[in-house]
Amino acid sequence: MYSFKQKICIYFSIILLAISVGINIKDIFIDDDYTINYEYVNTKDMAQPRVAEKQVSEKNIFETILSSSDNLGAVEEVDMQLESVDLPVTQGAEAAETAPKQIWYLPTEVGRISQYPNYGHVAYDITSPRGTAEVIHPVANGVISGIYTDSAGALIVTVHHVINGVNYTSQYVHLSRYAEGIYTGKPVTINDALGYMGTTGYSTGVHLHLAVLDCALFDPADSKCSDLGAWYRYDKMRFSQGFYGLGYLMYVPGSWNSR
Ligand SMILES: [Zn+2]
Repeated sequence: MYSFKQKICIYFSIILLAISVGINIKDIFIDDDYTINYEYVNTKDMAQPRVAEKQVSEKNIFETILSSSDNLGAVEEVDMQLESVDLPVTQGAEAAETAPKQIWYLPTEVGRISQYPNYGHVAYDITSPRGTAEVIHPVANGVISGIYTDSAGALIVTVHHVINGVNYTSQYVHLSRYAEGIYTGKPVTINDALGYMGTTGYSTGVHLHLAVLDCALFDPADSKCSDLGAWYRYDKMRFSQGFYGLGYLMYVPGSWNSR
């Protein structure tokens, strides 16, 4: 019969095979070639893309474990100035001026979704062939509500949006560096830069971890996400209720090549 060492070797090979098959299955599902058409943006009523919950491979589980701590880090630099900023319910209208049919935009010019939200990872992971040269823009007009690093060293920016009277926060994680001139409280449009795609913090490669939640992160008046712990709990709760962040707000394709 097989020795103990041989058995370990066989088990390990089986696990490796399972992982590689899992990744292939995931690629087949996710890597549909799809060029974003602006007509499809901001269409809440469109059928949502199938969320990749059922495509969780061993690799995904590993990434999920790593990235689930994305939002748990201590805030190093949060200087709330939202009160002093004229918070725009008009943001939707401003966005409409530049492109009437759009309120929510994709955050990068070129990208491919490498991981859809699941219960342990309530965000979209987006890669780009441009790597750390890829500029990250806000997904909607808003005000920068946080610039901080988490406990793992991920560079993070959050943006507060008010769309049709509803508070939203978009969160951009793993940036390689921040854009020049950003500060907490700065109004930003979809044409502004927040930073550049990167792999800082718990990350297995250059990508953007993008989460969007319907609350005002770091706003003491919003108990749903007044701090990162509250945000994290609210994120999980909203996900279980069917709110998939960006996927709920716009049709998110498997890949796109324009913004
Ligand atoms: Zn992620």
